[in-house]
Amino acid sequence: MKNIFIVGARKSGVYTALLAKKKGFNPFVSEISKNEEVEKFVKLLESEKIPYEIGKHSFDKLDQFDTAVLSPGVPLNSDIARALKEKNIPIIGEMEFAYEMSPKTAIVSITGTNGKSTTTTLTGLIFKKSRFNSVYGGNLGTPYSELLVYNPEPDVAILETSCFQLETIEKFHPKVAVFLNLTEDHLNRYKSVDEYFYYKRRIFENQDSTDFAVLNYDDERVGKLADTIKSRPYFFSIKEMPQRGVFLKNEKVVFKDKNTEEELFPIAITRLRGEHNVQNVLASVLSAKLMGASNDVIDSAVSTFTGLPHRLEEVRKVNGVLYVNDSKATTPDSVIKALNSFSENIVLIAGGSSKNNDFSEFARHLNGKVRKLILIGETSADIANAALDEGYSDIVFASSLKEAVDIAQKVAKSGDVVLLSPGCASFDMFKDFEDRGEKFKQIVNAL
Ligand code: ADP
Repeated sequence: MKNIFIVGARKSGVYTALLAKKKGFNPFVSEISKNEEVEKFVKLLESEKIPYEIGKHSFDKLDQFDTAVLSPGVPLNSDIARALKEKNIPIIGEMEFAYEMSPKTAIVSITGTNGKSTTTTLTGLIFKKSRFNSVYGGNLGTPYSELLVYNPEPDVAILETSCFQLETIEKFHPKVAVFLNLTEDHLNRYKSVDEYFYYKRRIFENQDSTDFAVLNYDDERVGKLADTIKSRPYFFSIKEMPQRGVFLKNEKVVFKDKNTEEELFPIAITRLRGEHNVQNVLASVLSAKLMGASNDVIDSAVSTFTGLPHRLEEVRKVNGVLYVNDSKATTPDSVIKALNSFSENIVLIAGGSSKNNDFSEFARHLNGKVRKLILIGETSADIANAALDEGYSDIVFASSLKEAVDIAQKVAKSGDVVLLSPGCASFDMFKDFEDRGEKFKQIVNAL
């Protein structure tokens, strides 16, 4: 490959181009949309004298290219991907391209429906404290190609890996492949949960018997993957004590490998809330152990990590009521996890844009826990209907986030938690989940 056609001029595409140029290739970046964000990123291309086009794809020029690199947001059934396929130009993703640029780097790749960012960050922080030269990021805001532009050959890379990225891998070969959990998601991109699972499973595709799989023992479909993969399966569990892996015993985190069993630290040292976060901690610890990180650095990272913004983030207490921003909860399952993280009564603000999710399981968790359900956004009616079907009727509709918080403030009693945990995407009313979370924090801080 020499001439590379890069689709997308946002962060992933632009850093792919920068890395490609650094490695001696001829990149060309093509972006169909034209907006402020794109204008900002193409400045980086200009500074490196990398040719690009925005507002169109030049379908007639594709013959000049040896390889195409797709940004993760570009689906394989898009017009441009189809045109590239017709011309027999190999298509890979941004992460695959970056992977091929530093093949000696040992990868810890982390996928699953939920918990990827938290687990990636904690694992990344463990390695930052260790003797390894490491980078962390990936789907989590900093594409792998960007990490490699600034640190070209790290010993270890810890990468949050989305199913979109796994659609376009070829040789991507993680030393440790972590599969956290599987619940329905992204059904606007995939035909079924099976198709979604199919892409996620590709994380193990190029592994061999010298590699490791880190699997959630408590998630049936994920645990069973052990029978179908070539790498060595290790498990994490908050309920049981699998043969090999990391689990809890008398409130202590234990690492077990064949005949050895090692007590690491009391789980109480973690500052994260909720059982789901205990799972994330166990997955991080297991990955770090398999990669040879020392117990000291693991202990130190786990005891100091306070979590990421917009994930059960405590904003402030007003009149004895704690306001919590969980804007990142974009699936019904995440909201269930959030509800289970509190013993207090909850005033829940939920709703947003639709990803064709089913809210019935979520609705079963409302009774006895949620004092009032305040609904905003496109999915309000769907959620309300699911709640009513489960016999829950303490529902109010709000036309804005501000109105929702105002209602919450009126109905919450001292000792309650007001929780923004939408269970839906944010694009109906906000730029993204961060924008939604920031607006929530502003409103709460102004109360
Ligand atoms: P991701 O990057 O996979 O979206 P995050 O770490 O950003 O994951 O967490 C997203 C949301 O999912 C949070 O709102 C959190 O409450 C919930 N969550 C985090 N970890 C888990 C888990 N292990 N299982 C289920 N839900 C989780």
